[in-house]
Amino acid sequence: MKENLTKAREVLAQYREDYAVCSKCKICHGVNVQEVNHARFFRGCPSGACFGFEAYYASGRMELARALSLHEIEPTDQYKHALYTCMECGSCQEQCYPVKQMWPLRVIELLREKAVAEGWGLLPEHEPILKRLEETDNFYGKPQADRDKLIKELGVKDASKEKCKVLLFLGCKYTFKSEMKETLKSAVSLLKKAGVDVGILGSKELCCGAPLLELGDRDFFEAFAVENIKRIDAAGAETVITLCSHCASVFGEEYATYMETKTQHITQYLSEALANGNLKASKKAKGTVAWHDPCRLGRRLKVYDEPRAILDAIPGLKRVEFERSKGNAMCCGGGGMAAQAYPEYGLDVAKERVFEAEFVEVDKIVTACPWCEEMLQNGIDGRKSKVKIENILTLLDECVGGK
Ligand code: SF4
Ligand code: SF4
Repeated sequence: MKENLTKAREVLAQYREDYAVCSKCKICHGVNVQEVNHARFFRGCPSGACFGFEAYYASGRMELARALSLHEIEPTDQYKHALYTCMECGSCQEQCYPVKQMWPLRVIELLREKAVAEGWGLLPEHEPILKRLEETDNFYGKPQADRDKLIKELGVKDASKEKCKVLLFLGCKYTFKSEMKETLKSAVSLLKKAGVDVGILGSKELCCGAPLLELGDRDFFEAFAVENIKRIDAAGAETVITLCSHCASVFGEEYATYMETKTQHITQYLSEALANGNLKASKKAKGTVAWHDPCRLGRRLKVYDEPRAILDAIPGLKRVEFERSKGNAMCCGGGGMAAQAYPEYGLDVAKERVFEAEFVEVDKIVTACPWCEEMLQNGIDGRKSKVKIENILTLLDECVGGK
């Protein structure tokens, strides 16, 4: 580990020129309309689109930050509703920054940190999440020892005991949700087909801390981050590969500065393996698919081309784009821990994204984030849609032969 993590800290007041100067131009309310064909899909902010009032758009949240900083208002339940319905999807910042050079998403994140630091933050629905993380070191409150069982089950090395080239960081959802098991198996299968020596940390892997960062509890997040970085660097692998887009963004934006081990999301690693011939998709797939850009993989890490290159390497597959794709992509409804507190609202956002998939006439939405998969499946069920959802890893694994 290179340095102390606490050096990266910022406070809301550092962004006063953003929240004080926000001109309420409302560019943050929508997408880049030059890149979207139909006006039905011009809206970009999920909370603003759902609740309608300005307080639920970035422009309103900038005003909430300004007014609170100047003690013009006190945080009320209504204020907290506006703060915790933000999905931290970053659509606002994507539109605001190129024109106004402002960071509305960062303001919202730091407003949440201020709320926690001052003791008025978080909602009762968030308490079980913190409790589970405190008691068990993972998001689901499961025994950490369960993670060790995966070493044998997946046929990988125990990276805490023996050296491997690639350390796969599984993430809590892929580890503990039984319906995600096939994706895990495909991830390992693909890496093995590419000739990679792969290991996992088993019970030494802790939650990456993304939920804590999203909720604004930076102290608690750093406790997880410091410990994970120590354990990853001690394993001595060449690369640590993340599977979940939330882990990927935390690794890319937070861990990478302090970690010796190089980090990549699995779509980046596999697209390179396909490009340099270490993997070849030779078996045909059927149907029309659209890549759903997870907010954390797309807008935050700019991983747009690699997953599309993977899908384009699969023979027989027809790929189309969502109306709102890449920087304009609509959140799945699972961001910012908002759906944990307001599940109906999360479901409405998921249904909107599934409607968009129906509109562009795909058989399948493909993604690489367990949060998106779960939310979009809820959206599919909620709309009784014929559209399916699949992880890019299971899709690719079916089409790649062994070496
Ligand atoms: S946050 Fe940016 S885009 Fe939104 S109203 Fe303020 S200045 Fe305009
Ligand atoms: S991060 Fe997303 S949900 Fe939050 S204000 Fe920005 S666009 Fe709206």
